Amino acid sequence: MKTILSGMRPSGKLHIGHLFGVLENWRKLQDSYRCYFEVADWHAMTTEYRNPRAIRQNTLEMVKDWLAAGIDPKRAVIFVQSRVPEHTELHIVFSMLVSLSRLLRNPTFKEYVGELKAKELKTSGRRVLDRLVEQTLDRILEVLQQEQQSHLSAKEYRSLLRARLKETVAEGLNRLFHTTEGEELSYGHLVNYGFLGYPVLQAADILLYKGEVVPVGEDQVPHIELTREIARRFNEYYAPIFPVPEPLLTRFPRVPGTDGKRMSKSRGNTILISEKPEDLAQKVRRMITDPQKIRRGDPGRPEICPVFALHRVFGTPDLEAIERDCRSGALGCVDCKKKLLSQIQAHLEPLQEKRAGISDAQVVEILEEGSRRAREVARRTMAEVHEALGLF
Ligand code: SF4
Repeated sequence: MKTILSGMRPSGKLHIGHLFGVLENWRKLQDSYRCYFEVADWHAMTTEYRNPRAIRQNTLEMVKDWLAAGIDPKRAVIFVQSRVPEHTELHIVFSMLVSLSRLLRNPTFKEYVGELKAKELKTSGRRVLDRLVEQTLDRILEVLQQEQQSHLSAKEYRSLLRARLKETVAEGLNRLFHTTEGEELSYGHLVNYGFLGYPVLQAADILLYKGEVVPVGEDQVPHIELTREIARRFNEYYAPIFPVPEPLLTRFPRVPGTDGKRMSKSRGNTILISEKPEDLAQKVRRMITDPQKIRRGDPGRPEICPVFALHRVFGTPDLEAIERDCRSGALGCVDCKKKLLSQIQAHLEPLQEKRAGISDAQVVEILEEGSRRAREVARRTMAEVHEALGLF
């Protein structure tokens, strides 16, 4: 059996995007791979460092969802990253094998800096604009003074003023919107060192268990490239002890949020695995649909409707009829949503029942036992690493 490591940052109760995007896949993998499923709480610390106490409760809630979805502690090792200190130890070793510029090129880091920049522009836009106005006024005064001294003609004065203003405004706009190479560094004060290094910790997570396979979506393949580079470098410099992990390409269904955009907690458009029936009914009722279909009888476009997308995700049996009747106008959105609601309820109810029967104490026990098993493997790998490095 090949070894797989996969994990999630503990962010609390999971939504159906996690269920269909990750957990369904993990459940199947348990049968054919040696699976390690990690609660990546050190990773959570990179952004939740001001409130680490919330991570514990988030861990319990998340793991209950894992168990409810069929992740089985008898078939997979379910563990907490911070309970296996070897992760941080291997992280230190790996951090010597990767350059700063390589980390700055990491797509997730670039994305994060882009978000920070957009946020900063939003909050400090006024300040930036004020600065631009002041700089423009300075330039006008400068030109006025020059004109007094040099007796420029009106035409020359106009053209000089125009050139200076263009220069100032272009500089200001460039600062506002242009992302220059290496700009990530200028946002360094907003990003902690841990966040920059998180792909190195991720490499340690995978290689500590000699993970050979990492389940990823097509767009995430670059994310494991760094792990592969680190494994190769370690093997070349010291001793060939690490496998070079391969991506296991997995097609994840697109699970839209209730507003049709990507489902995410920050957008407030999620449907939780543990959603209460009354909240679920309200969320489905309020889902957006094809804006051109206002009443029954109007022809609809299922291909752009998130309700239809969820019918597909939840495998509603009469999907073809729904599609046909939506297009013809025979089906109204209210009835279509009622069908979706009962389909979601039928799917989630058994999971919710199972979840309700799992206590915090049981989760703690599973995580303690899983972390103990993970640590046995981690210790053996670190012994090999020390042997390869030949330190004192
Ligand atoms: S009938 Fe259903 S699929 Fe068609 S637009 Fe309305 S909610 Fe969407």
